[in-house]
Amino acid sequence: MTATRATYLDWNANAPMRPEAVTAVAEALSHCGNPSSIHRAGRHARQRVNQARERVAALVGVSPEEVVFTGGGTEANVLALQGFPNHRVIVSAVEHESVLAVVPDAVRVPVLANGVVDLDALARLLTTDAGPALVSLMFANNETGALQPIADVARLVHARGGLLHCDAVQGPGKVPLDFRALDVDAMTISGHKIGGPMGTGALIVRGDLSLQSLIKGGGQERGRRAGTENLPGIVGFGAAALLAKDEIGAAENVERLRVEAERRLLDVAPDAVVFAADVARLPNTISIAMPRVAASTQVIALDLAGVMVSAGAACSSGKVTRSHVLDAMGVAPAMAECAIRISLGWGTTDADIDHLVEAWGALYARTRASAA
Ligand code: PLP
Repeated sequence: MTATRATYLDWNANAPMRPEAVTAVAEALSHCGNPSSIHRAGRHARQRVNQARERVAALVGVSPEEVVFTGGGTEANVLALQGFPNHRVIVSAVEHESVLAVVPDAVRVPVLANGVVDLDALARLLTTDAGPALVSLMFANNETGALQPIADVARLVHARGGLLHCDAVQGPGKVPLDFRALDVDAMTISGHKIGGPMGTGALIVRGDLSLQSLIKGGGQERGRRAGTENLPGIVGFGAAALLAKDEIGAAENVERLRVEAERRLLDVAPDAVVFAADVARLPNTISIAMPRVAASTQVIALDLAGVMVSAGAACSSGKVTRSHVLDAMGVAPAMAECAIRISLGWGTTDADIDHLVEAWGALYARTRASAA
């Protein structure tokens, strides 16, 4: 039987679309006009794209011309990794699949047990004479929430003449994100993680860099991404960006709820383990293992109780596989297989945390009773 009470705690997978973004999309859908047309309907469409571009640019502190709209974070990552040819690619071992899959033979920098990139290992890789490097390092891990020392890495990479791409899909709206302060060369963001529509995103590219386009054809996006713009998606993304920019204050409440949730989960299940617990982390993310209970069992049991979370790893194909992130952190396979991800957002309440703790605690009690 499915529970009637529903608690959504999978915000790192997708945030609910904000009403303002829904309105913006609906409004855009009701107009005709291709942003490339020079008549008045085209000009109005162009104005809408421009306004959204300004809003997305403001979210990360760049100029509008530095924003290349894409069909999501995945496409932006692929564009970044393929858009700067003649660079050898170095990625961290905990990147999202959309980075890891692009250049399969890219060198992988290890991370420490806390999930943070091994800076010494990276420095060694950068000092070889193999030509300029393109390093891709995520801002925050989607499974554990661990933040990476991006500005330190930028210094290292630039000192060796390389470029730094940062997959910052999990950052906006949760922690301040400033492209210039981080001193990166390219950055990925995604619309549906901040309450915009799915299938929208952007690659931010430093103004003086030339990016090779993946999709060739018309000259849209200054020749960096051909094809008529997804106008409704872009304006929805823009509406969400405008709100996410001023939301960092709300993250304090999210952090309070997360800290409370973590404490209470560890109270009901004393042998549970929280990963990346000792490093700077996103305020909203918990990666936690209930030993000896498979992640899929936990996700299903919680779902039956009305609480929606993910298995530690993204299960984009619907199949739960062991997390490559926890593997890279040296977590024992048997423990990694028991890790789930709980992620909160601006709509999360104290009652949601009560529901989570109650459902997870009940599962824990059941499994421990049946093992006794
Ligand atoms: N990078 C990270 C860190 C992510 O968490 C995700 C999605 O979960 C992506 C990239 C892919 O973004 P999108 O879903 O917009 O393709």
